[in-house]
Amino acid sequence: MNLTSPTQVKSWCIENGFHPNRTLGQNFLIDRNALNAIVDGAGVRSGMKVLEIGPGLGVLTEAMLSRGAAVTAVEKDRRLAERLFDALGTPVGLDVVESDALKLDWDEFLGRGFDLCVSNLPYSVGMRILLDIALHPAAPAASTVLVQREVAERLAAAPGGAERGQAGVWLQLDNEVRILRQVSAACFWPRPEVGSSVVRFNRRRCALTAPQRGWFFDLTRYAFMHRRKQIGGSLRKAEGPLQRDAAEIDAILAEAGIDPAARAEQISNECWQKLASLYAGSRA
Ligand code: SAM
Repeated sequence: MNLTSPTQVKSWCIENGFHPNRTLGQNFLIDRNALNAIVDGAGVRSGMKVLEIGPGLGVLTEAMLSRGAAVTAVEKDRRLAERLFDALGTPVGLDVVESDALKLDWDEFLGRGFDLCVSNLPYSVGMRILLDIALHPAAPAASTVLVQREVAERLAAAPGGAERGQAGVWLQLDNEVRILRQVSAACFWPRPEVGSSVVRFNRRRCALTAPQRGWFFDLTRYAFMHRRKQIGGSLRKAEGPLQRDAAEIDAILAEAGIDPAARAEQISNECWQKLASLYAGSRA
């Protein structure tokens, strides 16, 4: 079957009584140009070990195998998982894992050592899966994923705009995040309500120690929970391990180069990192 032919994909579904499941985000990619752009943008090359979440009918899987990569494909839908290996002609480099990616043991799984993660992620749970993979210490050197356009903009957002949120700040800690291209809703079947974007995450070394990372996540989680509040005021109200007296908060913010009147989305990752290392070095 030609997986970028809408007619053939629809016929296969009808002949096999398969109804794409909205809850599982089953919007299949049916556009050859977009497909090539994703595999090119991901840098898939012969001999690479690639992790794919949600192979569906196998359009990306097939393209990556044809470039000589070995693909481990994790699919939750039993019917799709069971057919994939035979449907793609029993390729040597393909390992199909029938599993819910939300329930994978990522320590064990990513410990297998993937060079890349390349996926057209299911809409509803895509962000969670991405965070599980890209924040893991054994994450692949690069992940290239298709996500809803609005999600992509949030993940790549620079400080300042309302689209900047906790997930983007977290992912940008360990990754350079770049939107490679837009993919129109017409490139999928069934056609989703919104377009998608291809986003690439290039892993980079994080300078924080493990305890400082802990502070980074705690501080940003807290600040984005109170994102309408100014950072100085909200830190003064913090309780538990984040609690400090007002003078110390003022001094730490000044040293981190953060305006106490700034809101969470206006603070750069460099400043968050500096703040985390100062909290790590100060007494609660
Ligand atoms: N890769 C195919 C393509 O590009 O046409 C299908 C992509 S479709 C957007 C998302 C795929 O993820 C579907 O095959 C769906 O069954 C699968 N999926 C949804 N939730 C999943 C989960 N929690 N774990 C693994 N796969 C999941």
